[in-house]
Amino acid sequence: MTNQVLVAGGGLGGLAAGLASVRAGWDARLYERTEALREVGAGIQLGPNATRILIGWGLQAPLLDVAAQPQQLHVRDGVGGAEVGTLALGAAFARRYGAPYLTVHRADLQSVLAQGAQRAGVQLRLASRVAAVQPGTGRVRIGVGESREEEGAVLVGADGLWSEVRRQVCDDGPPRITGHLAYRTVALQRDLPAAVRSQDVTVWLGPRMHVVAYPVRAGEFLNVVAIVQGRSAGPVQEWDQAGAVADLMAAMGPLCRPLQQLVAAMPGWRLWALQDRPPLRSASQMASGRIALLGDAAHPMRPYLAQGAGMAIEDAAELGRLLAGVKDQPEQVPAALRTYAENRWQRCARVQARAERNGRIFHATGLVRWGRDLSLRLLGERLLDQPWLYGR
Ligand SMILES: Cc1cc2nc3c(=O)[nH]c(=O)nc-3n(C[C@H](O)[C@H](O)[C@H](O)COP(=O)(O)OP(=O)(O)OC[C@H]3O[C@@H](n4cnc5c(N)ncnc54)[C@H](O)[C@@H]3O)c2cc1C
Repeated sequence: MTNQVLVAGGGLGGLAAGLASVRAGWDARLYERTEALREVGAGIQLGPNATRILIGWGLQAPLLDVAAQPQQLHVRDGVGGAEVGTLALGAAFARRYGAPYLTVHRADLQSVLAQGAQRAGVQLRLASRVAAVQPGTGRVRIGVGESREEEGAVLVGADGLWSEVRRQVCDDGPPRITGHLAYRTVALQRDLPAAVRSQDVTVWLGPRMHVVAYPVRAGEFLNVVAIVQGRSAGPVQEWDQAGAVADLMAAMGPLCRPLQQLVAAMPGWRLWALQDRPPLRSASQMASGRIALLGDAAHPMRPYLAQGAGMAIEDAAELGRLLAGVKDQPEQVPAALRTYAENRWQRCARVQARAERNGRIFHATGLVRWGRDLSLRLLGERLLDQPWLYGR
């Protein structure tokens, strides 16, 4: 018990937290409520701030086996079709930041992390829902499933957007409904018309909508996410609703020919109604006593900076660094978690706020849209590169 980290949640954040804890010299037990680790069929972009950490954890080879390495980010006008900005993401970008920009299927990243975590010694408990958290002075106790109780020196709440552990740290109600819907799909590139296949990241911007396309599964598949404004009739907690392409087309409005072709060529659209929380306001929202929050449980954000999983991985790395400093000193855990929260909250709040602002800029109409495209044409890389984010 004295050196036991309990992790609630086996998503990307929880697996990263388990791995970082074991690397810090602690025992880690990870509880996932579902019967198997599963991720939705969609992609994740990983900036060098995240890939640097994964590489440092020894995951470079398995990650590069499954990831794609796009050479360019293209920003295009979704209505007129013109390219308005580009950012080179290849070798020079990787040299600048000491790690590459990768795009990866969620299930592949989850399996790289799960294998790394299990190899390091993280004990995975599936079909194990964490409930009834009881904080104590020398330990934290959790109820697992219907009847089991377990104890540890630390509890990491990595249980996602609808976190139950969050209530122990800051009981601030449910997440916000953003009024944005994400339609997403993944397809084998060789089954798609040649004109829509791509090994780069392309972002199409239009009034009240945008579309992001990039390769996953070592470039064999294309992942496409279309964000529109509206409400879903489905349950708010459901990440995986059926999405009709006709509804998507209607919500997007007039599109240039290449974007129309892309949307029409992609099969099997699924729908996510996006929720978030306002940016963190203080360290006390990320840790209390022996309980720390991490990833979407702590700071769910809109996906318009492609950094939710990146921030979860950064959280895990910082948590591991601080736990390494209090190994065999369980009485120091609350102070270490306080420092974790103090070191993380402002950066995560900044990323949450920037993601929200990006959504407004991406979906701009009228004069703001015109000004955005002019700035992108004039300043291109200087606007699209994010040294404050990638350069840590
Ligand atoms: C459309 C879209 C695109 C995105 N694109 C990117 C991107 O390109 N790059 C990026 O970095 N991020 C991206 N994100 C964000 C990213 O997906 C999330 O930030 C990240 O997956 C959060 O991981 P997590 O482990 O914190 O939470 P989750 O993935 O939600 O995992 C939580 C886990 O906890 C489990 N759980 C819940 N409650 C309990 C309980 N009581 N007991 C036990 N287990 C429990 C759940 O079953 C789940 O497995 C995107 C998000 C969206 C919606």
